[in-house]
Amino acid sequence: MEQIAVIGAGTMGNGIAHVFAQNGYKVNLVDISQASLDKGMATITKNLDRMISKEVIDGTKKEATLSNITTYTNFKEGVSDSDLVVEAATENLDIKLKIFRDLDEVCKAEAILATNTSSISITQIGAATNRPEKVIGMHFMNPVPIMKLVEIIRGYSTSDEVTETIMELSKKLGKTPTEVNDYPGFVANRILMPMINESIETLYNGVAGVEEIDTVMKLGMAHPMGPLQLADFIGLDVCLSILNVMYDGFKNPKYAPCPLLVNMVMAGKLGVKSGEGFYDYSESRKAENVSAQFK
Ligand code: NAD
Repeated sequence: MEQIAVIGAGTMGNGIAHVFAQNGYKVNLVDISQASLDKGMATITKNLDRMISKEVIDGTKKEATLSNITTYTNFKEGVSDSDLVVEAATENLDIKLKIFRDLDEVCKAEAILATNTSSISITQIGAATNRPEKVIGMHFMNPVPIMKLVEIIRGYSTSDEVTETIMELSKKLGKTPTEVNDYPGFVANRILMPMINESIETLYNGVAGVEEIDTVMKLGMAHPMGPLQLADFIGLDVCLSILNVMYDGFKNPKYAPCPLLVNMVMAGKLGVKSGEGFYDYSESRKAENVSAQFK
C-alpha cells in the first residue's frame, strides 16, 4: 500500500486525505469540483496549523503532509495507479454505484476499493463491480484527524485477506479499526440513531425540553454532547435518511423516524448547516424554539 486515492474532498474526504498523507502515504485527492478541492486543501492546511500550535506536529511535518497530496478533477488520472481507493463522495446510491463501476474499470486489478458510506450497503456497492471480494467499508468518524474509530465493514463477499489488510492499514494510521458485518446502520448508526430518534420522540411527547434532554444525557451518561445537539451537528436530514435506511432494511417499526424529525426536515430546519435545528445557530445557541411548543 503506497498510493492512495480519496474520492470526494468534502468534510470527510479532506480529513481522510490528511490522515493518510500525515502518515507518509501518497494521496491523490479527486473531486468533480475544483472549488471543493481548493476548500478541502485549505481545511487540511488550517488543521495542520492548529496541530502545530498545539505542538502535535512541527512545520516540517506540515510541509511533508501537504506535499504528499495531489489534487485531481480528472477521475481516471487520479485513481488509475492506486493500491487503495477510499470513496467519500456525496451520500447518494446512484452516485456511489456509478463511481464504483468506473473504479472497477480503471483501477488496477489488485486495487482495494473502500467506501466511507454511513448507510449504503457495502454488499450492494460491491455487487456493482467485478471484484466484490475487494470492496469494503472504511467508515471514518468526523472529524477524521481526531476521532480514533474506523468501523471496518465486511460486505457479504469481502474476503478475509482484504479485511485483514484494511485492519492493519488502519492501525498504521494511528486509528482503532473495529470489524463489523454489513447490515443496515452497521454498528455505529444502528445504536446511535435510535438513541437520537428516541430523544426526539421524548421531546415530541412533551416529556422534557431540548436542554433538559441534552443535560440528562450529558451529565447523567457522561456523553460529551447531548443527543439533540449531536443530531444538529450531524444534520437532521442525514439522521432521517439513515433511520429510513434501517426502517426499510429491517422492516421493524422501532426504526420509524419520529414525526417531529420528519417535519423539521420538511421545514428545512436541518441543524447547524441550515442555521437552525433543535438549537438556533443564527442568533443564540441556547434558543429552545422547538421545545417551547411543548412546554
Ligand atoms: P460532503 O458533501 O462534505 O462532500 C462530498 C464531496 O463529494 C463534495 O466535495 C462533492 O463535490 C464530491 N463529489 C460528489 N460526486 C462526486 C463524484 N462523482 N466524484 C468525485 N467527487 C464527488 O460529504 P461528506 O459529509 O464528506 O460525506 C462523504 C461521505 O462520508 C458520505 O458517504 C457520508 O455518508 C460519509 N460520512 C459522513 C460523515 C459526516 O459526519 N459528514 C461521517 C461519516 C461518514
